[in-house]
Amino acid sequence: MTETICFLNGEFLPLSQAKISVLDRGFIFGDAVYEVIPVYRRKPFRIANHLQRLQHSLSAIRINNPYHADAWSQLIVDLIARNATDDQSLYIQVTRGAAKRDFGLPQGLTPTVFMTSNPLSTPSQEQIQNGVRAVTLTDIRWLRNNIKSTSLLAANMLRQLAMDAGGAECVLLRDGYLTEGSSSNIFVVKGETLLAPPKDHLILPGITYEVVLELAVEQSVTTKVREIHELEVKSADELLLTSSTREVLAITQLDGKAIGHGKPGPVFRRLHRAFQDYKLTWQ
Ligand code: PMP
Repeated sequence: MTETICFLNGEFLPLSQAKISVLDRGFIFGDAVYEVIPVYRRKPFRIANHLQRLQHSLSAIRINNPYHADAWSQLIVDLIARNATDDQSLYIQVTRGAAKRDFGLPQGLTPTVFMTSNPLSTPSQEQIQNGVRAVTLTDIRWLRNNIKSTSLLAANMLRQLAMDAGGAECVLLRDGYLTEGSSSNIFVVKGETLLAPPKDHLILPGITYEVVLELAVEQSVTTKVREIHELEVKSADELLLTSSTREVLAITQLDGKAIGHGKPGPVFRRLHRAFQDYKLTWQ
């Protein structure tokens, strides 16, 4: 098997040869942001949106973006070309760089830029046909979830609790309202209406979330972006999760109880079909 080629600070190299300083603030403090871009047939999906979100995350934590969008695009295309599969999951991480360990946000460091790519692993046919199980959990994360920070300890702990309960994801609730999953956005279907929580500081503005809302409009599914109470989540006709690697999936069991009829519903099927069609046309 050929080794994964990654990008580190201006160089393309085999992943096993990539090294960073132990004083890197990404390592010491989780002082870093990231992106995951799905790549279909070697084309990075919605790359402009991902680069905009990266810019937003960098600005929010005061790291100067090391590259303009055109330079990022070129590096991303180069990395895709150097790796084996047509469909990839491309990971970008930018840290503040290396410095003596101290609090505050030192300016003027050289950011560490790391990118790697793995074969894209999308949901199995079984998951698409039957949906997945999830559990509700209290959202114990911080209040800046719109920053795509690599400080993901809470998200990892929450995902593990969901997995311990036999679930594929958790549905997070804060003060009685839906926020999102540990690494996905969550939608509620009530009758013919697709409800989505607002894009505020409590959730990551998912690129797939945006795509699904656009596709819903095209599919004449009524959409409403508003706060969603936990009782609406628990009594949903359908529950959906979205992310770059999971695309659109139905949650068919929540806290051990069936959602709707316990099978992926009609709104899921329409949006899933529309998403598959859309990604095939992506250039
Ligand atoms: N919310 C969280 C907390 C996430 O980690 C992710 C995926 N990284 C998402 C939502 C979905 O975002 P996207 O559709 O851009 O992958």
